[in-house]
Amino acid sequence: MKTALITGITGQDGAYLSRLLLNKGYEVIGLLNPSRNSSLWKIDYLGIKDQIRFENCDLTASDEVLQCVKENEPDEIYNLAAQSSVGSSFQQPKDSIVFNTISVLNLLEAVRRKKSPVRLYQASSSEMFGKVDRLPICENTPMHPLSPYAVSKAAAHWMTINYRESYGLFACCGICFNHESYLRDNRFFVKKVIKEALRIKSGEQKLLRVGNLEVKRDFGLSSKYVEAMWLMLQPPRPSDYIICSGRSISLDRIVEHIFDRLELDMDKVVVDPSLVRPNEIEDIYGDNSKARNELGWNYDTDFFEVLDLLIEEEIGAESDQKALS
Ligand code: NAP
Repeated sequence: MKTALITGITGQDGAYLSRLLLNKGYEVIGLLNPSRNSSLWKIDYLGIKDQIRFENCDLTASDEVLQCVKENEPDEIYNLAAQSSVGSSFQQPKDSIVFNTISVLNLLEAVRRKKSPVRLYQASSSEMFGKVDRLPICENTPMHPLSPYAVSKAAAHWMTINYRESYGLFACCGICFNHESYLRDNRFFVKKVIKEALRIKSGEQKLLRVGNLEVKRDFGLSSKYVEAMWLMLQPPRPSDYIICSGRSISLDRIVEHIFDRLELDMDKVVVDPSLVRPNEIEDIYGDNSKARNELGWNYDTDFFEVLDLLIEEEIGAESDQKALS
């Protein structure tokens, strides 16, 4: 039985990746920082809480990370923990930069010092590319990050590559584009629009306030993207891979689709200047052919179908909660 250690296990991807690895027969160890009081509801929602072993570890404390990797003897480490919101990183740049870089450095050092080999997945982000001259984005597209989050992820990305090249670590960066699910945090765009549109439908809210709806992003489904994370750690040699759908959609088309499905008028959508970011990528989509060709990862899901699934799941979960209360 292989052992996987997952940081950020209480997040969207942590929950879906845990389920995937448990189904593959892994022992899954989830790291929690006791000072965060993290909620386990996402893991609970997937019905896997009792199958996971939880360990306490502050990823910013190098000695704790070293001890944790030494004692648990993982075959694979998936580093998903991060201050993961671009918007929050403008409000708390220091927290984002410090946590998103120091945690990765501590893990890389722990893996380097370990005698037996450990394979490491680092959660990199398409946000690192920022302002690009050419689309689609490939693994070797030059980076021009446009937010503190993107700067922190770019630093962690290059640190991971540097440890691989300097010390021969089996470390891979999965450069994921936006991916969504019912388990996405409420502050992220797609989840926020679905939840608030349902509140408008039920009369609990009047308007949907949004930032710049003209920007375009490459969106996918989390439960499919975590498959690529696992695939990345299986080949004989480590490399970095773009994980994306390969198409971009403007945010206003997403709002229109959700409002149309729920039979709501678009006049309930208002642009709130306080939600417009200081610096924004206009359009971004990636080329996933390296992951397709080398890892055999397949992604053919249309994002409007994903939206329909998410609306359905949200409605189902809300009526279950109402029935319980
Ligand atoms: P998420 O739902 O926001 O989960 C983030 C996880 O990191 C949570 O478990 C959170 O713990 C933990 N975390 C945050 N700050 C922490 C801190 N200071 N100390 C310890 N743990 C901390 O993110 P996700 O969507 O699953 O994404 C997983 C990874 O992929 C992240 O690194 C993200 O940046 C990256 N990524 C995501 C996307 C996407 O579209 N989802 C795209 C590209 C890259 P709490 O439960 O305590 O908050």
